[in-house]
Amino acid sequence: MQNLAKKISRVLPEDLIVLMEKIGALSDSFGFRAFAVGGLVRDLLLGAVNIDLDVVIEGDAIKLGHALARELNGTIVSHRRFGTCSIATEDGFKIDLATARKETYEKPAALPIVKFSSIEDDLSRRDFTINAMAISINRSSFGDLIDFHKGRMDLERRSIRVMHERSFLDDPTRILRAVRFESRFGFGISRHTEKLMKDAIGRSIFGRVSRDRMRDELILMLQDRAPLAAIKRMARFGGLKFVHPAINIDRDLLKLCNSIDAVYTRCGRLSDRRRAPEKWLMYLMALSRDLTYSQVSVICNKLALRKFDRAVLLLYKTRARAVTKLLNSKRDIAPSRVYKLLEPISYEVILLIMAQAALINSNAKATLVISRIKEFLAKYDGTSLQISGDDLKSMGFRSGPAFKVILDKVLYNKIDGKLKSKKDELEYARALAGNIAG
Ligand code: ATP
Repeated sequence: MQNLAKKISRVLPEDLIVLMEKIGALSDSFGFRAFAVGGLVRDLLLGAVNIDLDVVIEGDAIKLGHALARELNGTIVSHRRFGTCSIATEDGFKIDLATARKETYEKPAALPIVKFSSIEDDLSRRDFTINAMAISINRSSFGDLIDFHKGRMDLERRSIRVMHERSFLDDPTRILRAVRFESRFGFGISRHTEKLMKDAIGRSIFGRVSRDRMRDELILMLQDRAPLAAIKRMARFGGLKFVHPAINIDRDLLKLCNSIDAVYTRCGRLSDRRRAPEKWLMYLMALSRDLTYSQVSVICNKLALRKFDRAVLLLYKTRARAVTKLLNSKRDIAPSRVYKLLEPISYEVILLIMAQAALINSNAKATLVISRIKEFLAKYDGTSLQISGDDLKSMGFRSGPAFKVILDKVLYNKIDGKLKSKKDELEYARALAGNIAG
């Protein structure tokens, strides 16, 4: 049996190793066997750090979890039915503990029947051989690699291989996972696995999975490091039909995806007022760029998208063209006009407009759109006034809907550089309020 203790100490951070040893020692005291599993093991063998600690216990994971949470002063959330728990530690680690289990699927794509079992069964229920390895963390065997399915060999061959013939039928989300890992690591899906994948897609298997699970895997795929390769791969399989049959992946779309990547990297942090943009949403908007409003609504329902994400996707359909047209204009546009246009629009839509503009052949037009958006994000987004409604009240004006109109006007003038100080704001507000009151 191969022992990876040396590799662990070379690759993983010290505090994670201490944590693994603690879990191992605690498991010893209960007489349980404990294993680190999944992505951490795969990435370790690739020489990469992965700090998501997934532990499988041959024994009672919840009992162990409570003892561990006490020892680490952490908080625990447990699910007795599944024999799993998660512990969050004070220094920011999250550990998932699961009782080793066996899964059987009675119907394709249905939820499996779960029975507590051994590490061997637990590894057999996993998606791919490269994700089906474990490392013992008990004291006497710390670092022993458990690899029943030749996962290490597949890692060396750079190959994604399922564990058994029915894998994609049991759980079609694995199709998206295969493509995600393939493009992330630059691996290849093995020929037989590819055949099984095509067969499953041909049997319209996606329709049988819960919308939430498909959505979550699609999001993971689109926000992984190299979504473009994954999108291309899915397209070749005809595998994006489950999102919408009208999605057409052509060269223009691929160019747009490249442009998204570049814009996201350069401008994803330009505005310090907005939360970081969601890259997956930008890709999903790009995928649906030729679709109608009602086709996009169908996607929103099919993927059970959250309210906010839905709104962004539909906003792109309704606003992007008009906004681009205005920002394209060769005439001077006051900064406040750009502000009014872009302020209510989500960061993702703004960046996508930029990504699209970057593809326009006429450089002058593209530069106009891009520079106006950049200026808005870096300079004007989040501009606030030094005065408020209270100042208007203390001038003797009665509060009401006019206050908003006045304060907005003051803000636009400030953005256009006409008001420099609080005094300027107050004077302008007083004049406006006087006019309105008068
Ligand atoms: P990542 O680096 O993207 O987090 P990961 O392999 O850690 O990759 P997770 O989604 O966190 O991915 O899953 C952890 C482990 O659980 C996987 O390595 C795999 O062994 C198993 N697993 C996850 N999803 C499935 C699935 N749909 N079918 C079978 N096993 C799965």
